[in-house]
Amino acid sequence: MKKSAIALSCVSVFLFSCAAPKSITQPDSTTPLAQTVKPNELSTPYTLKTGGEISEHQKHLTVDKALLRFSFDFDKEILFGDTTLTLNASKPQSTFSVDLDTRFTLQDVWLNGERLPNDRYSNKYGELIVSSSSLVAFPATLRVVYSGHPRTPIRAPWDGGVMWEKTAEGQPWLATAVQGEGCDLFWPCIDQPFGEPNETELYITVPKPLVAATNGVLINTHDEGDNRTYHWQTKSVHNTYGIALNIAPYKQMTTQFTSIYGNTYPLTYYYLPEKEDKAKALFDELPEMITFFERMIGPYPFADEKVGIVQTPHLGMEHQTINAYGNQYRKDDGGYDWLMQHEFAHEWFGNQLTNDNWDHMWLHEGFGTYMQPLYAQYLHGNEAYFVKLNAQRKGLANAHPIVSNTLMSEEDVYEKGPAGDIYAKGAWVIHTLRGVMGDDAFFRSVTELVYGRTDPKPGNFKPIFANTQDFIDIVNKHSESNLDWFFDVYLFSAALPELTMTRHKDSVTFAWKTDNNLPFPMPLEVSINGKITELDMQTAFSLPVSQFDTVIADPNSKVLRYEQRYEDYKAWIKENSNTKKK
Ligand SMILES: [Zn+2]
Repeated sequence: MKKSAIALSCVSVFLFSCAAPKSITQPDSTTPLAQTVKPNELSTPYTLKTGGEISEHQKHLTVDKALLRFSFDFDKEILFGDTTLTLNASKPQSTFSVDLDTRFTLQDVWLNGERLPNDRYSNKYGELIVSSSSLVAFPATLRVVYSGHPRTPIRAPWDGGVMWEKTAEGQPWLATAVQGEGCDLFWPCIDQPFGEPNETELYITVPKPLVAATNGVLINTHDEGDNRTYHWQTKSVHNTYGIALNIAPYKQMTTQFTSIYGNTYPLTYYYLPEKEDKAKALFDELPEMITFFERMIGPYPFADEKVGIVQTPHLGMEHQTINAYGNQYRKDDGGYDWLMQHEFAHEWFGNQLTNDNWDHMWLHEGFGTYMQPLYAQYLHGNEAYFVKLNAQRKGLANAHPIVSNTLMSEEDVYEKGPAGDIYAKGAWVIHTLRGVMGDDAFFRSVTELVYGRTDPKPGNFKPIFANTQDFIDIVNKHSESNLDWFFDVYLFSAALPELTMTRHKDSVTFAWKTDNNLPFPMPLEVSINGKITELDMQTAFSLPVSQFDTVIADPNSKVLRYEQRYEDYKAWIKENSNTKKK
């Protein structure tokens, strides 16, 4: 399924302008609205899930445009929101819904510019259901004016919400991270992959000198008294969880970058001024990182807008064109900032290519994680590549298949599904696939997965949705063979394939063992006294060796497989941490 940035029709522009809201002002502490805020109210399970089962009331809806206005009371930690969604549907309907956390108090709901009476809408459990006395034709605008204390994450970005932090100087430092729970934690939206707005406009009002950095392009700022409103716009389709607020007394570094494709676009880093030197060093890493992705995968997808990084109080998140960075300039021996590189990888794997169901989240995280060893190899060669890969190999759980082929919410993936395996095991599956296919066919397949074509150039592609089967079809096409057996074992089964190596007096026999005896003709390199032989492994294979010969299976670590040494190490770590706890 393809996403397309459908231009607003003149009808929807008309409807939109009918309902274009005026900016809301912050009520002072004596207004009834602020008094109705219930800071301790819990978000409902419906609000806390993202994706998964789709409500009947929003099954047929899409979002043409989201117009989001925000202002804040930083002392009381209250968010004031005013959202207008231009919704579309193939046929008229009298009841439809969007999602919004019940922690917010609704001030007004408007449909096509008309304020709705209270009995025309309800938000009992996080689904804001609008019922009209007659059929509503689409596109239609729904405006929701609301305020409240949004959910505060316990441990962002793994837990979602709005963070109200302070800088070292005691200034407000606000950030949102809602990947796990969804956009409805701070704005009314359709909290599903298909709920992505084709276009988003944000007006964020903050007291000076705070700066509001978000997705897309800064159109202008407007001052009113002590406040400044930042008007941002993104004309690209946008993951709903990728729309992010970042507010702090930021400084900004910007440079123009000319890519290997010849186009020029701005790179911007919004940072806290406390560590200027470190901020500059991080910013200086960007050009080479971008060139790596453009060489290996294809053009930077959002060159019409910007490459954006923003310093956040949480570790990081792939917010499109405003990637959250909170790694505190930590160094490791890879020679680059892995966190920035990982989040930036999601501009390709997550934002340009988006899974059409969270069940396929490994397409975001497996590729996003594989990009760190691949970048280490690009910068420093094979040793750096395998050091990173080996670090990732240690923690695989293999308790659930990476892909279950069911409709999954993101929470399902983490709590009932493969969880962390979508990262490191995903990366190892990709590493193994690269070995099976060879670099040419492999990288061509990855490019087609990301862009829907093998010859992407600036201007000839749009963001797309894809799933695991799309990738398998692409791989089979470019490898000119059927690799279904590969994916059946690595993605659709939990257990890793196991290689049995049996030494006899004058020979050694290799055989693959898989769950349910799935076919697994994985070619295998074998080193005998340093001389490498490749076995096609269509069946078990024996080689003549004496009992004194040194035999190593897969000496170049090409194949992900069950290995007892990793299990022993994992068990030892677990035992050790249990002892420490006592
Ligand atoms: Zn990631």
